[in-house]
Amino acid sequence: MTRVRVTRSIGVAVPVDEVWDLVSRFDQLPRWMPGIDAFAATPDGRVRTVLSGEATFLERLTGIDPVEHRVTYSLIHSPLDLSTHEGTIAVHSAGPNATVVDWVLDVTVDSRDPEEVRTGLRAAVDAGLEGLRAYFSAPVWARYPSLALDEDSAPGVAGWLDRRLLVPRCASCSRLHLPARPVCPYCWSDEVQHEPVSGRGVVALSITLRQGPAYPGVGYPYPVVTVELEEQAGLRFSSGLADPSRTSPIGAPVELDWVVRDAAPFPVFRPIGASA
Ligand SMILES: [Zn+2]
Repeated sequence: MTRVRVTRSIGVAVPVDEVWDLVSRFDQLPRWMPGIDAFAATPDGRVRTVLSGEATFLERLTGIDPVEHRVTYSLIHSPLDLSTHEGTIAVHSAGPNATVVDWVLDVTVDSRDPEEVRTGLRAAVDAGLEGLRAYFSAPVWARYPSLALDEDSAPGVAGWLDRRLLVPRCASCSRLHLPARPVCPYCWSDEVQHEPVSGRGVVALSITLRQGPAYPGVGYPYPVVTVELEEQAGLRFSSGLADPSRTSPIGAPVELDWVVRDAAPFPVFRPIGASA
């Protein structure tokens, strides 16, 4: 029996919370790991079966540390003739838009050539890390699979990736409009360009939803507000409200903040003065 350790790292050019949201979900592996031909996970997401070519791997989540941003798992079954297998994926921030991903495998090889096993594991880990980097380099359409983006809405949502709220402005009459349209609704000019707005405004409409995912820290059912933005009368944008009390009344001042959901930033409004 020979112990083999494989340690590999990669840099990804997005904030750490986006990478963590993806790698911490054990049942989301096929979204970023290449070479998977079939995949299944138990309903609790803690055991996954990965079919790659002729090989079947059965893996169990053994630990998840949201503070240290570390996931640990073990291999229950594989064709590699290993008596132990522990994997760790840890992510840490290296700057506002820089994350380092460390992936460590510790295995005990029973009968195979340890160097052959090491080479194979290293190739698999490198492919996975490159897959992560590719996931976060993908176009805005791929980063927001839950949204039905079109040519009009995509530029605004692309701004979300930089955590900026972009609103189309007409170069002809200078007015802003929402939702995004290819032609200015006021003067019909097609000279429309997205530009950032402050995200501050007041609650104009407030509703409560009983479907869909809640924003972190907000109880159920969760509030959604339409906010009249301070840049222009009548310019309104709707999004979730990150207010645990869920009582922001019509007219309450709010500001924009960002939450990570499905490995991508989403805008959310927060009452001015409330802490994150
Ligand atoms: Zn116009």
